[in-house]
Amino acid sequence: MINSGRLSELLKELPPGVKLVAVSKFKPPEAILEAYNQGVVNFGENRPQELETKMEQLPGDIRWHFIGHLQRNKVKLIIRRVSLIHSVDSVRLAAEIDSRARELSLVKDCLLQIRIANEETKQGIEPGELDSVAGEIKAMPNVRICGVMGMATNTPDIDIVSKEFALLKFYYRHLKETLFINDDHFCEISAGMSSDWRVAVENGSTIIRVGSLIFGER
Ligand SMILES: *Cc1c(COP(=O)(O)O)cnc(C)c1O
Repeated sequence: MINSGRLSELLKELPPGVKLVAVSKFKPPEAILEAYNQGVVNFGENRPQELETKMEQLPGDIRWHFIGHLQRNKVKLIIRRVSLIHSVDSVRLAAEIDSRARELSLVKDCLLQIRIANEETKQGIEPGELDSVAGEIKAMPNVRICGVMGMATNTPDIDIVSKEFALLKFYYRHLKETLFINDDHFCEISAGMSSDWRVAVENGSTIIRVGSLIFGER
């Protein structure tokens, strides 16, 4: 059902230190299990309800990642079992995660999603607001910022994509050298999807989020 040949090539090609999150949104539990049996442990979903349903049916040692726009009223549905939230794009969302995490006595690992594409539709923190947003979120005791996430423009033009990923790395370095200078947890760049993961890895990505390459078109 899944493209297991492409998956094993991808796993072989991935440089050490770069993690694969297999994006399984809209795909059935059987497909996830196939990838899991090939050695994938990290899976990404972008709809809270779908994530909840799948978690119940699949092995307990899968590490689930939340990768899409997250509404504040859905935080409580996913916070307990999700290992990393890639899409923190506002102080208000982070504050909700912080208070839900505090109720459960846990600290939630999150990435700051930064807007690197020019497309209007792409979510993320505006670069001009990055320092103030990151500073406010860093002060929240039950949220741990582990790095940054970004999505490049959906274009076949590699130069554009490459420039955007380079920009994301620049923001990462900037934060790493300022706000997070003494913070070893701040070490991840989540960038790259099926069409552009190689470009992302060349630009310092440590987590790639690959869906259709493994699971087929949605
Ligand atoms: C769907 C999705 C992906 C995976 O996209 P593919 O092109 O199928 O690899 C990665 N990241 C995010 C945020 C997504 O929503």
